Amino acid sequence: MVLTEAQLAAVLGIAEDAVIIADSGQRIRFFNRGAEVVFGYPAAEVLGQPLEILLPPEARPSHHAHVERFGASGDSARRMGERGEISGRRKDGSVFPAEASICRLQTTGGALYTAILRDVTERRRQSELMRQAKEAAEAATQAKSLFLANMSHEIRTPLNAVIGMTSLLLDTPVTDEQRDFAQTIRSSGEALLTIINDILDYSKMELGKLELERHSFDLRRCIEESLDLLSPKAGEKNLNLAYIVEDGAPDMLLSDATRLRQILVNLVSNAVKFTHQGEVLVTVDATLEAQGKHLLHFVVKDTGIGIPQERLGALFQSFSQVDASTTRKYGGTGLGLAISKRLAEMMGGAMWVESQVGQGSAFHFTLLVEAAGRGERDYLHQGSPALTGKRILIVDDNTTNRRILVKHALAWGMLPSAAASAIEALDLVRHGHAFDIAILDMAMPEMDGMGLALEIRKYRDPKALPLVMLTSMGQRQKGVAWERASFAVQINKPIKPSQLYDALV
Ligand code: ADP
Repeated sequence: MVLTEAQLAAVLGIAEDAVIIADSGQRIRFFNRGAEVVFGYPAAEVLGQPLEILLPPEARPSHHAHVERFGASGDSARRMGERGEISGRRKDGSVFPAEASICRLQTTGGALYTAILRDVTERRRQSELMRQAKEAAEAATQAKSLFLANMSHEIRTPLNAVIGMTSLLLDTPVTDEQRDFAQTIRSSGEALLTIINDILDYSKMELGKLELERHSFDLRRCIEESLDLLSPKAGEKNLNLAYIVEDGAPDMLLSDATRLRQILVNLVSNAVKFTHQGEVLVTVDATLEAQGKHLLHFVVKDTGIGIPQERLGALFQSFSQVDASTTRKYGGTGLGLAISKRLAEMMGGAMWVESQVGQGSAFHFTLLVEAAGRGERDYLHQGSPALTGKRILIVDDNTTNRRILVKHALAWGMLPSAAASAIEALDLVRHGHAFDIAILDMAMPEMDGMGLALEIRKYRDPKALPLVMLTSMGQRQKGVAWERASFAVQINKPIKPSQLYDALV
């Protein structure tokens, strides 16, 4: 079907966009209803006129250059199209921005130029308004973050004085009641300081002002320092706290130890907070990446209350807690995870979580680090003449601890036997297994470490079989039983390879 000129004009007449057709001499041949509205000319007034009356004077030279270029491209290209932003000029002389599609059509009667264009003044105005509103909102957020950063900084100074002075007060002679009051002031001050520090970090991150340091440090020591802060709390709740660094992870790292400790303290304190029985285990493994970098993969795994599947997504958002009652029951601001995740990302890694209600949670994070040569604790990876070939009895009801102790003993060339209960251990000793040394966990069901030691002493004296006691922090053993069992040494959980090594040697 071929449309007549009149039909075509009728069709184009309903378009809201301006449709203009000019001939090879650049004279206007068609001007639809939309063009009348956009340019303010009635069609009768412009038909036969030069096309350039629709352009502002300053746009005319470039328009001519364009047409020439179009023409020069030759007849072989029968049809050419172009789309872009141009300026239009209305009858009243006002200039407006327009979006135009222009094409050249070669016909038997010569070239035809068609322009379809749309006045985008209103759209421009809207997006300008949007841009201004966005800038204003960003400025307001910046101002808020700056205020938060300044304020938390200001609060920290007097708060440190409160905590410091309370500690000094506690060193002076005070009554038991006064000590109790002063200790409450100090622990509340410390809790407040944690919150203020979180807010300070968070606002610095919002402002993009949080900077990381880069220095070399000992990975194991960094983990141990983090766990030491939390082991009293874990001990109080009878939770087993442990860590394993798998072979292949570098000893010394080039990264930011303070920030790594901050992430670990955050995740482990959450794990201890939300676990009522069982254990909290930190593991680290490493893979070698490009350019000699190592991707460290940390997992903080607990056997706690867990997190419902549908809440996992929102967990890392700031100020988010799994449910509102959490604040009342466990305290906290909901900032810790948001900060930790961002820190991991700033250190070239990521953070994610797996969890099952009632089973526990595992928070994973990775960091991209450089190894910083060998550490001063090299001996921890090698057999030691003092320990090689020695038979060691390991008694702990906790599988993780047995695994850690056996792993270290093997690394030092020892011959370990592991028992999961006092009964099992006694069986081994009674049946004549000769051990050079034994490590006994204090807290075991049925018969504890002390009971087991007293039983062992019926068969072996302290010279024949030295005993090492493994306890939670704060459970220092004393008294008659301790004397009779004559333990050679006591070490605290979490098990630290260097401490264990020294004790065994
Ligand atoms: P805070 O602990 O200060 O409230 P976080 O960002 O560290 O803030 O944690 C946010 C919330 O995530 C916690 O309030 C808790 O509901 C949930 N959560 C974090 N860690 C655990 C965990 N190990 N087990 C169960 N719930 C957790």
